[in-house]
Amino acid sequence: MSWHTNILTLFPEMFPGSLGQSLSGKALESGLWSYSAVNIRDFAEGVHKSVDDTPYGGGAGMVMRADIIEKALLSVKQPGRKIYLSPRGKPLTQKLAQELAQEQTLTLLCGRYEGVDQRILDAHEFEEISIGDYVLSGGEPAALILMDACIRLLPGVMGNEDTPLEESFSQGLLEYPHYTRPAEWTDSHGITHSAPEILKSGNHAKIAEWRHEQSEKITKERRPDLLKST
Ligand code: SAM
Repeated sequence: MSWHTNILTLFPEMFPGSLGQSLSGKALESGLWSYSAVNIRDFAEGVHKSVDDTPYGGGAGMVMRADIIEKALLSVKQPGRKIYLSPRGKPLTQKLAQELAQEQTLTLLCGRYEGVDQRILDAHEFEEISIGDYVLSGGEPAALILMDACIRLLPGVMGNEDTPLEESFSQGLLEYPHYTRPAEWTDSHGITHSAPEILKSGNHAKIAEWRHEQSEKITKERRPDLLKST
């Protein structure tokens, strides 16, 4: 069975979006993952098919109704792990993406407006995940990002099965720098840059050592918090 994601959204046409391209697009075509986008509005009633209402207690904006979201959720036969994309959720990390990629099925709830009625989250035990400390206008781009981070970890999606092991965050470090041909490159300011000699030496042990040192240096400079958390 392939990795499956149900997406509860007011904008089903936003899927698969960028995930229909490149590696994830090929993986979708070959059945390594699949998705169903459920339009929450299909479960609304009345002429206007309204899905939101004003917040109790007053304040700006509108809130998505729990009863309508629940109908959309109950239309999903196997919801699996239920996630609400939300700025107040726990941060999406590489570790969490690895964990979610191991699940068989996810159901992602994408909020709009001011968000969703708290009771839907409580009644159906949604966990909340954030993609960063900023506010998007909707959960759909966050769902695409979460899915992208998981899909590339699924077996068979990446050409080189070793790649995820060497990437940033996988071993608590940021990745070392990459170089490719030409060995000598003169930039538009007339300055010539050479690729590091060690990488052209063919000595794999020395190359691995150099890369590890570079990873440590970059992590120390840019994200010392990662070193503390390992
Ligand atoms: N009123 C909310 C708040 O202050 O936390 C923000 C609502 S936002 C305009 C609308 C929707 O976008 C949210 O319900 C959520 O689904 C999604 N969203 C916004 N920022 C996000 C983030 N950083 N991570 C994940 N989802 C996010």
